[in-house]
Amino acid sequence: MAHEQLNPLVLPDADGNFGKHGGKIGHPKLAAALAEIEAGFRSIIGDAAFVEEMKRLQATYIGRPSPIYHAQTLSKRGAQIYLKREDLNHTGAHKINHCIGEVLLAKKLGKKKVIAETGAGQHGVALATAAALLGLECEIHMGVVDIQKEHPNVSRMKILGAKLVPVSAGAGTLKEAVDSAFEAYMSQFDGSMFAIGSVVGPAPYPEMVSYFQSIIGHEAREQFQSQYGGLPDEVVACVGGGSNALGLFNAFINDESVDLVGVEPAGEGLDKPGRHAATMTLGKFGNIQGFNCYYLQEADGTPAAVHSIASGLDYPGIGPQHCHLKDLGRGRYETVTDKEALDAFLALSREEGIIPALESSHAVAYALRRAKELDGNRRLLVNLSGRGDKDIDYVLSKIDV
Ligand SMILES: *Cc1c(COP(=O)(O)O)cnc(C)c1O
Repeated sequence: MAHEQLNPLVLPDADGNFGKHGGKIGHPKLAAALAEIEAGFRSIIGDAAFVEEMKRLQATYIGRPSPIYHAQTLSKRGAQIYLKREDLNHTGAHKINHCIGEVLLAKKLGKKKVIAETGAGQHGVALATAAALLGLECEIHMGVVDIQKEHPNVSRMKILGAKLVPVSAGAGTLKEAVDSAFEAYMSQFDGSMFAIGSVVGPAPYPEMVSYFQSIIGHEAREQFQSQYGGLPDEVVACVGGGSNALGLFNAFINDESVDLVGVEPAGEGLDKPGRHAATMTLGKFGNIQGFNCYYLQEADGTPAAVHSIASGLDYPGIGPQHCHLKDLGRGRYETVTDKEALDAFLALSREEGIIPALESSHAVAYALRRAKELDGNRRLLVNLSGRGDKDIDYVLSKIDV
């Protein structure tokens, strides 16, 4: 069943494909569980009571709509820069948008528990928050290396009542945490639901997560028109898995005058394999963790090691809808280095008094670079996906103050 929240270009066919990307690849046991989630998803989005409950929580719990702020000091570089303030949401990022949706769905399906992976801990915190709100148990799988690095988020998850499962396999980071969480899920389909953290994974996850995140773009398009008049020339967002970007882009896909720009991490440089995560720029087509997309590969097709200063962008693959938008020539994907992201982090902090997440700083860095190339009457709308509290100690260790 189609639904009007998502543009047809980012809706899957009956097999969960977006062009040649997406799909649902994996264990037959998993197929039955995915079918249950998909049927549940189709039923709730057509259910007026669910839609009302979602709207009530968006307004009274998340704090939506998030404002659009015209960053006039940053804009002195050239083009006008506007920020969609997802950093002002409860828990400080866009992830709460889909976590509330996923936990409401789990509850509707009669599940007692949600299970997920987390890298930097952002998805873990947002999911633990939604689970606490709605009275479900929450089990978060996290690599031991990330547990060491992301201490404040680990503490938050514990305080919120989540059960933390440390994962020591392999590199002890996000990819291993995903494998571990999926394995745990396979042994307890009946009582639990897997709640993924981005527009990745097998169908129906990319469609479902983008549906819940599409609130960003629907709000932004209306706010921009009513507060500033007309439409922006470019809408810009950082891409890890791609959920905050797709949430923004979706509402603008039919606006031909609006460029959709995804910004991926060039890390320490595109010429340094293993030290960036520029999936769209250098990835190849193939299947990773249950779906087809472009991803960074070793010669034998296994996922390559990746790096970004922003842990939330540190994933070798990317959501299938973005790959499809790229193939169609509708999405444009640019890169920003660690250094440029750090400079943008400081520029936004010191020129506007807003401390952004290092992930979001990639989108800001592109906008600062782009603004200089454009006239002062052109307008860039940047999704500020999250706030930077989690990054302050790391940034201080990198700069002289
Ligand atoms: C997780 C995260 C991201 C990256 O995830 P997407 O799915 O690509 O949006 C970006 N910004 C923040 C603040 C995050 O927490």
